[in-house]
Amino acid sequence: MLRVSEAQQRILAAFSPLSPEDIPLSAALGRVVAENTLARDQLPLFDNSAMDGYALLARDTGEATPDRPVRLRIVGAVPAGRVLDRPMRDGETARILTGAALPLGADAVIQQEMVTVDSDELLVRAAVAPRTNIRYAGEDVKRGEQLLPRGAEIGPAELALLASAGVSPVPVRRRPRVTILATGDELVPAGELLGPGQIRESNSTYLVAAVTRAGAEAIALGIARDEEADLREKLTRAQDADLVISSGGVSVGDYDLVKQILGEQGEMDFWRVRMRPGKPLAFGRLGSTPLLGLPGNPVSAAVTFELFARPAIRQMLGAASVFRQRIEVALDGSDVKQEDRERYVRARLYAQDGVLRARPTGDQRSHIITSLRGANVYLVIPIGDGLIRSGERVPALLLNDGLPWGDEG
Ligand code: AMP
Ligand code: MG
Repeated sequence: MLRVSEAQQRILAAFSPLSPEDIPLSAALGRVVAENTLARDQLPLFDNSAMDGYALLARDTGEATPDRPVRLRIVGAVPAGRVLDRPMRDGETARILTGAALPLGADAVIQQEMVTVDSDELLVRAAVAPRTNIRYAGEDVKRGEQLLPRGAEIGPAELALLASAGVSPVPVRRRPRVTILATGDELVPAGELLGPGQIRESNSTYLVAAVTRAGAEAIALGIARDEEADLREKLTRAQDADLVISSGGVSVGDYDLVKQILGEQGEMDFWRVRMRPGKPLAFGRLGSTPLLGLPGNPVSAAVTFELFARPAIRQMLGAASVFRQRIEVALDGSDVKQEDRERYVRARLYAQDGVLRARPTGDQRSHIITSLRGANVYLVIPIGDGLIRSGERVPALLLNDGLPWGDEG
């Protein structure tokens, strides 16, 4: 049986970044840049004022004191978006507003709170050093400088940077299309009436959300019955995608047909991984489309999505990092037993006195959905026959982007 890391490598090897496309910035949130993107312009674009005040030549103010103010002649005004129509000379000043281009010849701006105006003259009562209150052209970004490396994910800050530096459209990788299929005779779409022995289908709901969060386009294909013809027909439809994710029907029960059809209609790479939850996990191809057959238990489906499907999606997006960030935390609360499979324990991370601690969220069996809900990390419990005690350090996968500071509850 494969270990998790081996299974991950086998899966990643089957995916490459999708083709690049140019899209407008307005559509780029969550996408991944396909090439190193360079600044078309420098930032700031031109020398400009950091304050509302007066532009001047610093050397004119050298003698200024509170008792003997220097008088400068006000020769114009420069609101943001305008420029002074002539260079400034000795003894002159111009009203200037934040962000407005510094007039030629001026080398400092004095804040308006520090001066008084006497008809068309400005009274300056202290010497102003050259470069005061000026934001210089190119001090943030040089023209041609790299803004974002290939593989960077585009969030709000990246969008602002690209917008200011004049990059639009932006080259990104095509979004993967992921079809999602639930399997099981007992399943009823959420919101419909339940018959005896039936349950509400929840894995598609989870997977559509998780696929979307991972940056792909999710297409839910509903529920396939546990019979060959129906499953075959739905899997054939699902094939028109970059990845098919099914849930259920991959263990050793009599009705576990996903494996069987994968073997007949495509090619099975492997179907079990040495982990808990989620041992039965099928990976292979349906025709030429990769298929990940996740286990049916809701928690197993969620954990195996995180470990195997999300990295595959990130790989297709061309993301520089495909795996979740792994940190070390102190186990908190209960002791955790090691097993002959790698365990993934749902836990809540929090910081206490400068130490990162994570407390298991409760019952760890694979049908307990409430303990999935409270988790912001999965603790990775290595294979073994010991006990990891509260307080010992264990690796944890961060499930959110950025640090998910949870409270203790
Ligand atoms: P299976 O892997 O098909 O044997 O399913 C394992 C368990 O997960 C069973 O209790 C199923 O009823 C449940 N299950 C399977 N698929 C889903 C689903 N899409 N939504 C909710 N529960 C499911
Ligand atoms: Mg089933």
